[in-house]
Amino acid sequence: MPRPIEALIHVPAIAHNLARARHLAPDSKVWAVVKANAYGHGIANTFEAVRSADGIALLDFAEAKLLRELGWRGPILLLEGCFEPRDLELCSRLKLWHTVHCEQQIDWLAMHKTHEPHRVFLKLNSGMNRLGFGPQAFRAAWTRLNALPQVDEISLMTHFSDADAQRLGQCGIAEQLSVFEKVAADLPGERSLSNSAATLRHNSRVRSDWVRAGIMTYGGVPDFPEHDQAFWDLRPAMTLRSKIIAVQHLQPGDTVGYGSSFTAERPMRIGVVACGYADGYPRHCPSGTPVLVDGKRSGTVGRVSMDMLAVDLSGLPQTGFGSEVTLWGQGPKGALLSIDEVALAGKTIGYELMCALAPRVPVTVQHAD
Ligand SMILES: *Cc1c(COP(=O)(O)O)cnc(C)c1O
Repeated sequence: MPRPIEALIHVPAIAHNLARARHLAPDSKVWAVVKANAYGHGIANTFEAVRSADGIALLDFAEAKLLRELGWRGPILLLEGCFEPRDLELCSRLKLWHTVHCEQQIDWLAMHKTHEPHRVFLKLNSGMNRLGFGPQAFRAAWTRLNALPQVDEISLMTHFSDADAQRLGQCGIAEQLSVFEKVAADLPGERSLSNSAATLRHNSRVRSDWVRAGIMTYGGVPDFPEHDQAFWDLRPAMTLRSKIIAVQHLQPGDTVGYGSSFTAERPMRIGVVACGYADGYPRHCPSGTPVLVDGKRSGTVGRVSMDMLAVDLSGLPQTGFGSEVTLWGQGPKGALLSIDEVALAGKTIGYELMCALAPRVPVTVQHAD
C-alpha cells in the first residue's frame, strides 16, 4: 500500500468560488489567478473549473504555454510582464497580454518586431512600492506606450497592499484608490484593481473592469480570522489527508517527539499520522493546532517532524490505527477544517500552505462533490 497521505483537489469548489467572484463583482470580468501552479492545486487539475473565468492570470511562461496546450484560447495576463526582450516573442506567439511596470519593458517593446500589436496592462505603483510606475511617471509611460506601433490597447492596473484589513483607521484601500483615480482619471482603457480581498470587502467602492481572483478561487480567506469561509461563502478547493499509522499510550510525564516539547499531564492516547513538513505541513504549528480525526476536531501533539506528526485521541474512543486524519480541507461526514485556521496556528497564511504542498504528495482530482 502506498503511504496513506494524499491531497484532494475539489474542482466543483473552484467553480463555486469563481461564481462567487462573479456574483460579488457583477459588472467586472474575472481573472482567475493561477500563478504558482494554481496556488499549489495544479494548473491542469483545476483547468476544468478555471475555464469558467473570463481570463487567466499568472506570471510564468511555462504555465502560460501549458494553458494554451490545454486549449485555453481566452485572455492570459502575465502579472510581472516580460523578464527579457525575447519574452515578447512568446507573448506574440501565444497571444499573451502582459503587464508593463518599468521603463525597460517599454524599451523592449519599442524594439520588438511583431505582426500583431500587443495588449498591455500598464501598472501604477499607487503605494505598495513593489511593481509599477509612480504617479509622476505614469502618464509619461502611457504616452510612450500609446505612440508605439507594437501596442494596440493599454489597460490600467494597480495592486492594493491592505485590501484585507484596515490601514491607519481607513478601509485599507482608500489612499491607493484615490491615487489611482487621480492619475488615471481621464486616461482611456480598461481598469484592473481588485485582488480577492478587495473583491470581497470593497467591491462597491472600486470600479474595476477586471477583478483578479487569486486566493478566493481556492477557497482561502484573505481576511481570516476577521471573516471565515462560511462568511464569504467560499469552499475549500484543497484537502490534505492521511491516516494514523501508530498509536501510543502515554503516562503522565511522558513526552512526544523531537525536543520533547509536549509532556503528558494525564494518561492519554495519541495517534501518529503519516504527514510531516516534507509533505508541506508547516513545521511551526505548535501543539494544539487543529486537525480532524475521523471528522472530529482534535489537535496536534508535540513537534511536527519530517514525515510524521502526532494527534491527541483523548475523547475519541472510536479512533485509532487506520483512522482518517484531515490536516485541512474537507473531512468525512461534511466536516470542514479551514486551511486558514491551520495557517494561523503556524503563524503564516493559507496562501503559503497551499503553495507548499510537496511534490511527493499524490494528488487526486475530484470532479464531483
Ligand atoms: C497574486 C496576485 C493577485 C491575486 O491576489 P489574491 O490575494 O490571491 O487574490 C492579484 N494581483 C496581482 C498583481 C497578484 O500578483
